[in-house]
Amino acid sequence: MPRSAAERRDDLVALYHEARGCPRCPLSGSRTQVVFGSGDADADLMFVGEAPGFHEDAQGIPFVGRAGKLLDELLAENGWARVEVFVANILKCRPPDNRDPLPVEIETCRPYLERQVELIEPNVICTLGNFATKLLSGSRRGVTQVHGQPLERELGGRAVRLYPLFHPAAALRTPRVKDQLREDFRKLPALLAAGPAPPPGGESPALDDQAAEPGRGAGSTADAELSGQAGSTADADAAARAEQLGLFG
Ligand code: URA
Repeated sequence: MPRSAAERRDDLVALYHEARGCPRCPLSGSRTQVVFGSGDADADLMFVGEAPGFHEDAQGIPFVGRAGKLLDELLAENGWARVEVFVANILKCRPPDNRDPLPVEIETCRPYLERQVELIEPNVICTLGNFATKLLSGSRRGVTQVHGQPLERELGGRAVRLYPLFHPAAALRTPRVKDQLREDFRKLPALLAAGPAPPPGGESPALDDQAAEPGRGAGSTADAELSGQAGSTADADAAARAEQLGLFG
């Protein structure tokens, strides 16, 4: 039976609290805090990056450094705010010295991401960079080859449209990559306007160039944002910061 946005949001908040104490891999010993993800719990558009960096680990919020600023800028060019989408990473904890995620860490953390997708029910998931693109597409083709080309995949028990994008950090390093990322971003409204991906074996609606209304589009902020459920001062601080960005607590 379909579940309401409020029920799914409650389960997402419960998952957040579970993840915050996650002991499943050695990164739990080196992290400052778990970076679960943030945004609209009922968003149609979700972004999946690689792993938290220094600033994310310190603040508990994904993409708050320079790469995050670029992400915000590109969202704004499409008329969207961060609170209207959901942003997460493959790994919820920072790898020491920002090293690449290890296969065992990816596999250990993967159930959190799958459950997030199951609960948020996005229509479009933008994979940012190689790690997210390869993990979620199940292909060895890297983002340089597949960026800007939508794929349909089953994830979290549903069909979703994957949209591989260059990682904003790579775009900050190379102007040509930034131009390409910006161009790929411009095609996102049309992809969102196509609605949910057809169930496996079904017909795919034609994409058109009409701009998406972020009705539930990029994700309406309506009442679906995760709300603060703080129990301690640290929790209250996290909730206050989270609220600024329309996040969870
Ligand atoms: N890079 C990522 O992949 N994720 C973040 O949250 C920040 C930088």
